[in-house]
Amino acid sequence: MTAKSLTDTVTLNNGVEMPWLGLGVWKVEDGNQVVQSVAAALAHGYRSIDTAAVYKNEVGVGKAIKESGVKREELFVTTKVWNSDQGFDSTLKAYEASLDKLGLDYVDLYLVHWPVKATYRETWKALVKLYEDQRVRAIGVSNHHIHHLEAIIEDTGVVPAVNQVECHPLLTQKELLAYCNDKGIRMEAWSPLMQGNNLDHETLVTIAKKHNKTPAQVVLRWDLQNGVIVIPKSVRAERIRENADVFDFELTSEEMAAIDAMNQNRRYGSDPDNFNF
Ligand code: NDP
Repeated sequence: MTAKSLTDTVTLNNGVEMPWLGLGVWKVEDGNQVVQSVAAALAHGYRSIDTAAVYKNEVGVGKAIKESGVKREELFVTTKVWNSDQGFDSTLKAYEASLDKLGLDYVDLYLVHWPVKATYRETWKALVKLYEDQRVRAIGVSNHHIHHLEAIIEDTGVVPAVNQVECHPLLTQKELLAYCNDKGIRMEAWSPLMQGNNLDHETLVTIAKKHNKTPAQVVLRWDLQNGVIVIPKSVRAERIRENADVFDFELTSEEMAAIDAMNQNRRYGSDPDNFNF
């Protein structure tokens, strides 16, 4: 069932509820910029924030959360272990460092940011330990291909709750989505708005006009109707509101198919089998 409001949640494979839509904060500067963005989102009703150790803005995210007055249990905070911190012991340490920066006792979702060849399997074992020790509400991965997912599931028997991957109309990820759905892994789209590019694509503009919506809203709605969690980023209050105003219209199956047909397997980010950071 597709979400009906900004606070609607999807039930992850361990029973934890995660909002369908959250705010992403990659490339948002620590200090005023991230504090103001997160504050604007929380004031508008967002309850999910997606950060990462490497974004270097966990301090500001934590500050905005504290100042918002929103109860901790109403929030869903995601952060990620960075590549240079991977490995069993160093991941456990990285988790504590992130909590410290965020000023939180736990995060709702902790992710392995990228599948670093030499270390991602040990890193997943550390996340399983954090989960078993009840330090974190849910654990997942990011940028994992099917073969990475199979390796970590085979190692531990523990299926990630979420796989956060690049996903948008030019990279629809249908095969990975089908695999994740089959395994009970919820797919989450990063760069859902193509980093602000291609929103003037004729298909999106035409569909947007029909619904009296913007192309960005059409893309986010397409994700939700595909059962994909979204975390659009903006530092502008009006866009933060715009990106959340996607719960009052429905794309037809023809419109969904037209957006699917935009796929070019085009990545703005790196291929998880070939990255060097
Ligand atoms: P998005 O696809 O969310 O696009 C953000 C860009 O689009 C910004 O330049 C923003 O500009 C602009 N924008 C936002 N809203 C609108 C709108 N309504 N109309 C037109 N332009 C708009 O890109 P991100 O790469 O930031 O992805 C979202 C989040 O996903 C990240 O912030 C991060 O949390 C996560 N992510 C995770 C990765 C991973 O490896 N796990 C990798 C990359 C991202 P402005 O801010 O000026 O409004």
